[in-house]
Amino acid sequence: MTATRRPAWLAKPFWFFLVAIFALPVLPGPLNVPEYWITLLNYIGLYSIVAIGLVLLTGIGGMTSFGQAAFVGVGAYASAFLTTRLGISPWVALFVGIALTALVAFVIGAVTMRLSGHFLPLGTIAWGLSLYYLFGNLEALGKYDGISGIPPLSLFGVSLASGRSIYYVIWIVVLAAVLSVQNLLNSRPGRAIRALRGVGTMAEAMGVNTAWMRVVIFVYSAVLASISGFLYAHLQRAVNPTPFGLNHGIEYLFMAVVGGVAHVWGAILGAAILTILQDYLQSILPVLLGQSGNFEVIVFGILMVLLLQHARQGVWPFVARAFPRAPAARVPEQAPVLPQRTKPNAGEPLLVVDQARKTFGGLVAVDDVSFEVRAGQIVGLIGPNGAGKSTTFNLVTGVSPVTHGTIRFAGERIDTLNAREIVRRGIGRTFQHVKLLPGMTVLENVAIGAHLRGSAGVWRSVARLNRAEEARLMAEAARQLARVGLEAHLYEEAGSLSLGQQRILEIARALCCDPALLLLDEPAAGLRYQEKQRLAELLRKLQAEGMSVLLVEHDMDFVMNLADRLVVMEFGTRIAEGLPRDIQNDPAVLEAYLGGVD
Ligand code: ADP
Ligand code: MG
Repeated sequence: MTATRRPAWLAKPFWFFLVAIFALPVLPGPLNVPEYWITLLNYIGLYSIVAIGLVLLTGIGGMTSFGQAAFVGVGAYASAFLTTRLGISPWVALFVGIALTALVAFVIGAVTMRLSGHFLPLGTIAWGLSLYYLFGNLEALGKYDGISGIPPLSLFGVSLASGRSIYYVIWIVVLAAVLSVQNLLNSRPGRAIRALRGVGTMAEAMGVNTAWMRVVIFVYSAVLASISGFLYAHLQRAVNPTPFGLNHGIEYLFMAVVGGVAHVWGAILGAAILTILQDYLQSILPVLLGQSGNFEVIVFGILMVLLLQHARQGVWPFVARAFPRAPAARVPEQAPVLPQRTKPNAGEPLLVVDQARKTFGGLVAVDDVSFEVRAGQIVGLIGPNGAGKSTTFNLVTGVSPVTHGTIRFAGERIDTLNAREIVRRGIGRTFQHVKLLPGMTVLENVAIGAHLRGSAGVWRSVARLNRAEEARLMAEAARQLARVGLEAHLYEEAGSLSLGQQRILEIARALCCDPALLLLDEPAAGLRYQEKQRLAELLRKLQAEGMSVLLVEHDMDFVMNLADRLVVMEFGTRIAEGLPRDIQNDPAVLEAYLGGVD
């Protein structure tokens, strides 16, 4: 229990940074840090705040943004304008700036975060440039000359005009930003955010609104950038559009990548490396080359290429080896059990597929297929490759809409619902190609399945007001892992499990949704003989506990001894339906399997 009480933020880098940051400016006598370094550290802090947001957005959420500098500009200009033109207190201006940034980011995010592939970074370049030109062309913002005469900050009557005094404010904000993002990542919405990159379809199938999550982290990272802009404006006491242009947007991204784009502490490291290197190169290169110019940009370009070829994870992973790692989420000793839905009575029709059809252009992938699964049954949907099994599966799980026909679950039509609404009604699923987060623990992976059984959002998670709920979710994940026999692997990385164990992990994750029906897409594919045996045992055990299962499989032997009923498909049509022993001797089925492509 002591281990569970230890908050995640007490991991050692935190104390290291805390002590270093607070000791530096107050070291006595000969160790005293010169003003030059304080100034440099102030800029490193300001850049870190932006880069931390980029770690969340790009490194973890998978959305590359070249436009963060523009949000720094929104925060800087908001405070510059309000304090100089309207004489408003900077602290009030800070909140106005944050609100304005959140609003702008929400609108931009709602449009650009939908873009995929190359279009997303291109979109960020477009609005990054637009905001830059907006700053430069608005009369009220002083056009390209900007705004000067910005007052210094003061806090409780103490002036923060000097670099040494604002240093503490900047670094407290940096640490707060690190903590807030770490708290967020180790929470219900955080696990959903970590699933956005690569396994978004899985997250959606667990009930995560991925489109909304994207907008949320976009706004979050924009607000961090805006706070950095606010501090910058009051440190510099003047703003103009230059530092908010595309060049700087690229530099921020660069910092996050150099530090390690998926590591929160890496953001600080990247900001430090680039700022110090830039300062050094700016003084040394013109001397070496005998002429003035921004040669450091070329060196940075070369470094970036080298880094991407040899250390894609950035520098932080090398540093992190010095700090012991403890799993962020642990199983509490006791936590109240989550409420469960009332299960249907055995034998009641649970899933009724009636004349379901799916066409892709001219191809009829599922041709008016009907079948049903009754509560407590294991039904196998079998057929050779290309028969339309996965497509049928996708129709039931709401991944793609039916062309016509109806699908009912527990009496309710579900063919018009999306994946999130379907899992909410009690259909849990696994994937033909395992979809999990390999670097995350088994426990946390399974907890994603319980997404809809929690409610903590971003704010509660950042403020760590979600602890009681987290304990319940982790206890549930552990309970389901014990149910499937993976209780010995709670804190291992999911990627280190064998394929058979990974498939069983997916079943535990699906069980976390508290399903009345489990849908498994080829769970035995790629498994060794013994793993198949273990899987079959597990499914029988779940059935004995009252679970209903629809199993898509092309391995006949696996389903033959397991399923209560079989539905056989070929070329999109149902060619047979009945008890396994009858199916085994059905001439049409024998023809499909022996004479088919399989
Ligand atoms: P199974 O899972 O039984 O192997 P599928 O359901 O994956 O078969 O595929 C059935 C048929 O539908 C195949 O001919 C496949 O090429 C086609 N198909 C599946 N998904 C799509 C899609 N998104 N677009 C076009 N054709 C598809
Ligand atoms: Mg398939």
